[in-house]
Order: sequence, then C-alpha cells, then structure tokens
Amino acid sequence: MKCPHCDTGIHEVLQRGFLFTSPSSEEWTEEHLTCPECGRVTIYLEGVTVQRTNQHTTTVPRFMAYPPHKSLRPLPSEVPDPYKRDFDEAAAVLPLSPKASAALSRRNLQAVLRDKALTKQKDLFDQIEEVVATGKLPSHIADELHAVRNIGNFAAHEIKSKVTGAIVDVEAGEAEWNLDVLESLFDFYFVELRIPVMWAGNSARCGQASERSDAGCFLH
Ligand SMILES: [Zn+2]
Repeated sequence: MKCPHCDTGIHEVLQRGFLFTSPSSEEWTEEHLTCPECGRVTIYLEGVTVQRTNQHTTTVPRFMAYPPHKSLRPLPSEVPDPYKRDFDEAAAVLPLSPKASAALSRRNLQAVLRDKALTKQKDLFDQIEEVVATGKLPSHIADELHAVRNIGNFAAHEIKSKVTGAIVDVEAGEAEWNLDVLESLFDFYFVELRIPVMWAGNSARCGQASERSDAGCFLH
C-alpha cells in the first residue's frame, strides 16, 4: 500500500483491535499501522453485525478513518507540522474555496520565511524582499516568491501581506501558485539543506556515513 500521508510504498502490517458492540449488535473494530517512513498513523474502522447464528455480516465495510483523506499533494517525509498540516489543509480545501486555500498558504509562507529563513519583517511582502536580498535562495525560488506578490496583486490588496490569513478574493491561479511555491521552499529548507555535506577541511571526519551525525557534518 501507499502511505496516505507521504505517498511512500510501505508493507501493510496492520494491528487489529476491538472497539465496542453497539446496542444493535454491531461490532466495531479498528485496524492501524504506522508508516516506517514518516512515522504517521493510518486508522481503519469496520462495522460487523453478529447474527444469532453467530454469523458475521459486514455492515460498514472497512474505511480509512484517519487521515480523513489521502494527501492530495504528498510532501517529503522531512516536512514537519505545522507546515505540512497547513499545506495539506490548503490542498484539500482548494477545490471548494480557493480563497481559504490561498489564505492558509500565505500564512504558511510567512511561517516558513520567519522560522527557516529567519526574516525579521512583519509583512509577507517585506519578508519576501528580505529573504531574496540575502541572495541565499536559488534564483528560481526567488523568482517564484516575487510571483506570489505579483499573481496575488499584493499592491492592490495590502491585506494579503499584512494579515496573511485573511479570507479575501483571489486572482486566477493564485491559490495553486502559493502551493507550488511552498513545495519549492519545503524542498529547499527541509530536504536539500539536510543533505549531509563534507565541511571544508573536514572531509576525513565526515567521510564515513556512520560518523556523520556524531561528527556534526549536517548543515542543520
Ligand atoms: Zn508515510
């Protein structure tokens, strides 16, 4: 099966447990497993009615109770909450409300830039300016961030920058674009920057994989 959280192919090893019997003799059981890749749990529920003859009839076929839906845009397992949670929510709500999706994503963008890029500015517009000015971002991500402001028409809708979680009208493609840019930022901050690197002049100590974590050879 594929983990509904991270989309990694995993061996389905389910643990089963009895929950309760309802007054109408419906027995509810749960099955769960923990993904070895991302560590998140998936829970299934099933309802079975027990007849007087001791025959079992499945009245509610097994369904996935948690997560409530398969991740629509799976992220690498390195991306932690709350960034992943907000991203999943923004992706899930996109077809129903691009406004709500874009608001969640703007707030998420602001959080990533504050926590990972260590920007000091308060408004999202200025945070983007600040992080791009450091020159530490790959140029394609810098361009994508500029486009967040342009596609969202921040100049005409200042509230998108000042109160990022505000539910306001969105431009065509804005909500989708915000998700795309978040994916790029997550890749950069949570995946690429965690690749073990050999520090200059320290290649002997960092050369052995088993020693890397102890030797402090990770960037983060
Ligand atoms: Zn997983």
